[in-house]
Amino acid sequence: MDCEKFAAVVYEYLDSEIAYEVKIEIHEHLSRCPGCDSAVEFERRMKVLIAKACQCGDCPEGLEERVLRALQEASEA
Ligand SMILES: [Zn+2]
Repeated sequence: MDCEKFAAVVYEYLDSEIAYEVKIEIHEHLSRCPGCDSAVEFERRMKVLIAKACQCGDCPEGLEERVLRALQEASEA
């Protein structure tokens, strides 16, 4: 697995909607690719934040986008 392939499956991976064999490939890639590893950490933290911000389970329009943008700005600062 390379970074491009990883990027294509990362959301399924985070949602645990992924085949076991693919998960193994992902873990292999993460163990030797610090860039993707920190990207996963970032996405994971973001999912937690979004879940906290929206506990009704039915996100208002654009919430995820707003949270994303705020986090991007925070990481750039
Ligand atoms: Zn990578």
